[in-house]
Amino acid sequence: MQQILTLTPEQAYHITEQYRVVKRSIDARQRQLKVNVTLLLDENGHPITKGAPLPLYTPPVWQDVHNAPRHVRIIGAGPAGLFAALTLIEHGVKPIIYERGREVSERKKDIAQLNRNVSLDAESNYCFGEGGAGTFSDGKLFSRSKKRGNMQRVMELFHYFGAPDTVLYETHAHIGSDKLPTIIRAMRECIIEHGGEVHFGHQVGENELRQWLGEGPVILAIGHSAHDTYRMLANIGVALQTKGFAMGVRAEHPQALINRLMYHLDKGERFKVRGERGLIDLIGNASYSLVTQVQGRGVYSFCMCPGGHMVPATSSAEACVINGMSASHRNSPYANSGIVVQINPEDLPAIYAEAGDDPLAGLRAQEYVERLAYEHGGAPAIAPAQRLEDFVRGKRSTDLPDCSYLPGVRSSALHEWLPPFIANRLRQGFCDFDRKYPGFLTNDAIILATESRSSSAVRIPRDSDTLRSLSHPNLYPCGEGAGYAGGITSSALDGINAAMKIAES
Ligand SMILES: Cc1cc2nc3c(=O)[nH]c(=O)nc-3n(C[C@H](O)[C@H](O)[C@H](O)COP(=O)(O)OP(=O)(O)OC[C@H]3O[C@@H](n4cnc5c(N)ncnc54)[C@H](O)[C@@H]3O)c2cc1C
Repeated sequence: MQQILTLTPEQAYHITEQYRVVKRSIDARQRQLKVNVTLLLDENGHPITKGAPLPLYTPPVWQDVHNAPRHVRIIGAGPAGLFAALTLIEHGVKPIIYERGREVSERKKDIAQLNRNVSLDAESNYCFGEGGAGTFSDGKLFSRSKKRGNMQRVMELFHYFGAPDTVLYETHAHIGSDKLPTIIRAMRECIIEHGGEVHFGHQVGENELRQWLGEGPVILAIGHSAHDTYRMLANIGVALQTKGFAMGVRAEHPQALINRLMYHLDKGERFKVRGERGLIDLIGNASYSLVTQVQGRGVYSFCMCPGGHMVPATSSAEACVINGMSASHRNSPYANSGIVVQINPEDLPAIYAEAGDDPLAGLRAQEYVERLAYEHGGAPAIAPAQRLEDFVRGKRSTDLPDCSYLPGVRSSALHEWLPPFIANRLRQGFCDFDRKYPGFLTNDAIILATESRSSSAVRIPRDSDTLRSLSHPNLYPCGEGAGYAGGITSSALDGINAAMKIAES
């Protein structure tokens, strides 16, 4: 049960200190700033205080699967693969995970090298390694959709392995990239302790997979960045389809500016509650969610990170890919977000004439744009960048503002070389956003190319009931790379669902 209250910021502050708050949203449309607070109620309808026991949930019961009669191979140790493994253990089946990347503490060192622009390890980076793309992600755990299955179970498992209490009840829970590695490590330790196996540095290849598919169930949880693995699947004859996705840039503004725009802080005296800083301490740095339509395609913000950092999320040399994350406190002076253009399969020739028309066409288009960005940036991870207003007005930036991207940026005329299909829609999209939030379009903001991995460009079709691949009955494609999930929670849930199907069969 929940109760929604509309409060002043001061009242919201006191309530938030006292009770478990499910959701907080800011309403800055009226003359006075309002905070809508949703409280969690107990069975008697009373708000649950912060110190009170958490709502009941079923703790996992791990079985000893060291000598279990059944085992399942899992390719990929991202959220989908890890949650599949944990579910199999709960059901007495032994999971054997194969992960091409390294374990999380080694991976941290490889990522540090990339952030210093020293070197890219193609097997250990922001995409590959223990925990997959989820480990050094922002850790926004958004989806509460009940359609896909038991999302609360995903949150409970995150909590069991060390995520804060808030993941159990907040609608927009956030873990933060500083906390995720410890949680992921705890998952692996649990899997091994109860008899599962985890093999790092093991890239599953074609011959091996062919053999396994003849032996028993294989959960395929490869994420959407392993383009070589998609090609391997194509060689084996696994059914694949092109899927719509999105590409664009990552935009970063000073957080103070986003706070002013989203909370309307510049509109007079009415927000002088504890001063501007106090207000932000109270309600947190502002985020945004923007969407518009330009020439028949959606242009929208994606994975907005208030108080965050932009990061090099490439896994291959000669590709520049940008993503965003924030630590648990979300307190950097920058606000970044992907701003992307919807791309349908029929749009691919407009992006890359040689994309082809087979199921891997979307990958080629992605790779083409990522390579362009690399050529205009620099090895291994310098990003091409432009001031936002210059991009929209078609001007080269003579200098660039400070930004959070550690490997370094190089001034580049993105409007000249990004495919016009993307660039023109982005330019119009930024103008639309500025109409809604005047000041959003500013040269104090910077854009980096390219934000190209917001979702998978390939789908691995499966039977909707059995979750088996349409071409290979022993193959269970799941998670983001299969094209059935997007984000940490939905990928984790998809892994759980695949494991349940196998355990029950
Ligand atoms: C910087 C960043 C920030 C993000 N922020 C958020 C966020 O705030 N909220 C959110 O919901 N999502 C976020 N995401 C997206 C989220 O991380 C992914 O949606 C999620 O991790 C997908 O889970 P998955 O298990 O399907 O695949 P992945 O996490 O991609 O894991 C796949 C794993 O498979 C391995 N693999 C691939 N091929 C092979 C092979 N042949 N052999 C062996 N192993 C292989 C890879 O090494 C990888 O570890 C972010 C992503 C990034 C990069």
